[in-house]
Amino acid sequence: MGLRKILTDKEPALHKVCKKVEKFDWRLHKLLDDMRETLIDSNGVGLAAPQVGILRRVVLVDTGEEIIELVNPELLETDGEQVGAEGCLSVPGKYGLVKRPYYAKVRAQDRFGAWYEAEGEEIVARCFCHELDHLDGVLYTQVMERYLTEEELNADEE
Ligand SMILES: [Zn+2]
Repeated sequence: MGLRKILTDKEPALHKVCKKVEKFDWRLHKLLDDMRETLIDSNGVGLAAPQVGILRRVVLVDTGEEIIELVNPELLETDGEQVGAEGCLSVPGKYGLVKRPYYAKVRAQDRFGAWYEAEGEEIVARCFCHELDHLDGVLYTQVMERYLTEEELNADEE
């Protein structure tokens, strides 16, 4: 187990398309364990492998009930829309206004290669979309409407 360093948006690794995971071996399990520890340590909602410098299609999402591991995830279905504040551990201290589907359903492999489906609304749907974008080298700052102002951020905290 170990914490991994989270890269910030200047790093080239965050702007590349990640490769599929082919081997469900101890290296993948170690990566997933380290990512889980790093996500918990940084109080994030989700984390993608390129954020720790690994260009593989692996993400973690905290559904509020548990942290789920998504290997080679694909978006299956979306519905509705929501516009709200979104942040990223790789863009520290900033938040943007981003439009996302209200509902999202994904399919992914678990750490042993078995396919399963997961779905969510609101923040979970937002997180699925945000993390899957990371695997194609896309940050929310490239799809947002604009950054939130200091005033808007302070108002949210009250
Ligand atoms: Zn992010």
